[in-house]
Amino acid sequence: MTKWVYRFGDGTAEGRAEMKDLLGGKGAGLAEMSNLGLPVPPGFTITTGVCTHFYAHGKSYPAELREQVAEGLAAIERLLGARFGDADNPLLVSVRSGARVSMPGLMDTVLNLGLNDQAVAGLARRSGDERFAYDSHRRFIQMYGQVVLGIENHFEELLENHKLDTGVTLDTDLSAEDWRTIVAGFKDLVAQELGHPFPEEPQEQLWGAIGAVFGSWMNPRAVTYRRLHDIPADWGTAVNVQAMVFGNMGPDCATGVAFTRNPSTGANEFYGEYLVNAQGEDVVAGIRTPQHLTIAGKQASRLALPAMEEVMPEVLAELYQVRRTLEDHYRDMQDIEFTVQRGKLWMLQTRSGKRTAQAALKIAVSLVEEGVIHRDEAVRRIEPASLDQLLHPMLDPTANTTVLTRGLPASPGAASGQVVFSADEAESLAVRGEAVILVRIETSPEDIHGMHAAKGVLTTRGGMTSHAAVVARGMVRPCIAGTGDLRADYAARTMTARNIVMKAGEIITIDGSTGEVMIGAVPTIQPELSGDFATLMDWADAIRGMKVRANAETVVDTSMARRFGAEGIGLSRTEHMFFEADRIGAMRRVIMAEDETGRRAGLAELLPIQREDFAEIFRIMKGFPVTIRLLDPPLHEFLPKTEAEFGEMARLTGKSVGAIRQRAVALHETNPMLGHRGCRLGITYPEIYEMQAAAIFEAAVAVTQEIGKPVAPEIMVPLIATKKEFDILKAIIDRVGRKVLEGAGVSVPYLVGTMIELPRAALRAGEVAETAEFFSFGTNDLTQTVFGLSRDDAASFIGAYQRLGILEHDPFVTLDVAGVGELVRIAAERGRATRPGLKLGICGEHGGDPASIRFCHAVGLDYVSCSPYRVPIARLAAAQAKLSGDLRDGTA
Ligand code: ADP
Ligand code: MG
Ligand code: MG
Repeated sequence: MTKWVYRFGDGTAEGRAEMKDLLGGKGAGLAEMSNLGLPVPPGFTITTGVCTHFYAHGKSYPAELREQVAEGLAAIERLLGARFGDADNPLLVSVRSGARVSMPGLMDTVLNLGLNDQAVAGLARRSGDERFAYDSHRRFIQMYGQVVLGIENHFEELLENHKLDTGVTLDTDLSAEDWRTIVAGFKDLVAQELGHPFPEEPQEQLWGAIGAVFGSWMNPRAVTYRRLHDIPADWGTAVNVQAMVFGNMGPDCATGVAFTRNPSTGANEFYGEYLVNAQGEDVVAGIRTPQHLTIAGKQASRLALPAMEEVMPEVLAELYQVRRTLEDHYRDMQDIEFTVQRGKLWMLQTRSGKRTAQAALKIAVSLVEEGVIHRDEAVRRIEPASLDQLLHPMLDPTANTTVLTRGLPASPGAASGQVVFSADEAESLAVRGEAVILVRIETSPEDIHGMHAAKGVLTTRGGMTSHAAVVARGMVRPCIAGTGDLRADYAARTMTARNIVMKAGEIITIDGSTGEVMIGAVPTIQPELSGDFATLMDWADAIRGMKVRANAETVVDTSMARRFGAEGIGLSRTEHMFFEADRIGAMRRVIMAEDETGRRAGLAELLPIQREDFAEIFRIMKGFPVTIRLLDPPLHEFLPKTEAEFGEMARLTGKSVGAIRQRAVALHETNPMLGHRGCRLGITYPEIYEMQAAAIFEAAVAVTQEIGKPVAPEIMVPLIATKKEFDILKAIIDRVGRKVLEGAGVSVPYLVGTMIELPRAALRAGEVAETAEFFSFGTNDLTQTVFGLSRDDAASFIGAYQRLGILEHDPFVTLDVAGVGELVRIAAERGRATRPGLKLGICGEHGGDPASIRFCHAVGLDYVSCSPYRVPIARLAAAQAKLSGDLRDGTA
């Protein structure tokens, strides 16, 4: 017979913490606390298996369930000496939903179930507190009415009317008689709405609530939440039925919530709130101001209301014990719920507490220092992507803030500034040194200069992929998009939310990591790269096998890459070096020239500029390897396009406008991404690569002499399809290298290798490796060519593809293991079969994506390379990949 019901309470339990899948998070936590001997009101958990059965069998229960629930209930009754539905000593229970992971959208908890007109009288007699009994009854009808019977909330209205009639303002001033009248009113309301009376029979109440929990698993809110968070529908929810304990029985009663450590800073201090004479959710409902547990907490928040430490010192002492027990046991920060009934503490929930990225770091590092967990465990516990929050300037977590509104956290980081409503205004104020936040309904390409000038961007419309969001992320500007209730009025130069009007020039602060818009300037703090962050990164570095490099070519990015711990440059693109205003002219002359002499003249102008570009990178990298990719963009992009450009070109070259136009037309490409680009340009215009090689070697010689140790250039030929292409170009590079190095009498340990970004190159990797000294997987282009899909165009339908299940991930974010990954694996194997020890890396954007990094580790790459901001993320992800790989081969 299948076991559908697991009991807990009285110092034992049939379940355990590890049984989350079956019991849900709440059920597993209650069982575990019971096993630990903590005071948990007795109860039982109906498993997630019942939920699965429910939906597989036309919303019906397994045959044995009724009997098992009856036994569970009887066990509670025996323990407490009370009886469900009894007129003299009634057992009351709560019915609580609980999936594996906490899931908004599921049914809310119903408290005080089992009350009816007879039972409430018994409860009043037994407790000696009529007022409490009738207050509990009305709470039950209200909760059950809303949550199980689906009655809209007219209950509060009725309550308010009664208070007006009797001239009472506080709930606590209502008498037993008042509550009795209100209960009658509530019941009438239910009868009216439902067409039949409120269920008085406790068994009917119980099964109604159980059915409502299972039913809520498929309600639209829950379904949406699961879709957004990748939670499978077949997990199901469990139902917990638990004896009630009462925090609303008088001044020696209370209810509260606490974190065993500070969830925003991670400090090892008890952090919690409670309310005297209250039940359940009153603490979070915001009707009354909750009080702090500790005097320290009370002082920090400048609250006058007494701390539990002052009012119920023995209870707090006991809570400290519980905190100790739970942390020792779970070896992690816990989030707990408790109730105090007439001075006795009862535990109602424990789970691993949600925390900020900063707190997560501090807690993990502290737990290692306290000897509670191993370093490996600390490294495993930090979500790599969460580090992103720490690398941008962030708001001082101790600052007091007033939130104006919330939107989507579209680009991380925080910024304060004056509100401006146009890009031009943003720019003109920024020029004067003012900090501004650009507020727009939405942005378009005409706003780019304003976005650039602003410290942050806020749009009232749009989502995570809106123009504002995408551009802001690219510019590393904080951005909040889609602040639904905020209205921007360009004409009046105001924005309004919740009846608060803010004018242009007033200061706001936006937090692009949380989506919060705050009034005034909130102080920010610079990312903390020392302390706990540095400690954890050191541990990660000691674990990981793969190196981490950065994709960077500017001085700013290269320096940042070093600061974030990059061990070299994995991709330095040379095209920006040709597109800058002072260079594009010379480059165009090269392309438009009809013969080699003409080309060489243009290139001679570019050589010293290129040399200095490379020298700067070598200087910053101080001997770490620097992969330089030779010119890659389509020829097309260098062509003059407008009549004005034709004229300018004609003037520069002394040719006729007609001749220029003709040549531009001749070189025009219909599909430039698949056209005359990469090494094909190097083959047809060898002078270009020759010049670049000379610039690299000359810079390497100069910087080697300057810093007194050899620099390590790795020269990369892009877009090869055949070995022959590579061989021709490698011969040119080696010839230039010999000439420069011998001439200078300096030895530079350089490598010449290739980017593997076309399927043919991946398949022919065995022969390519005969001459290529390294491979770097260019997975952006490899993904484009494998899928036959351009990265920019993919955005318009990848979302739909994911929803339909055609693709699990966006292949331009997370490496497609089945297709692109297979080619990477083949190329790695074939390359290394020819040349053992062939250096392998990845320089596509996947190099900064934790899931893709796991794959890179599995196929044995030597390094991953990613954007500078992602370097710490990659360092951590590489360590985690190593740890889970070790677990799989049993070496750990
Ligand atoms: P949520 O998942 O929304 O926190 P819970 O099931 O934990 O819902 O319950 C909501 C509130 O009711 C919490 O404050 C909880 O502590 C309280 N509560 C639940 N069961 C009981 C009970 N048996 N006795 C007293 N309070 C309870
Ligand atoms: Mg709870
Ligand atoms: Mg490419």
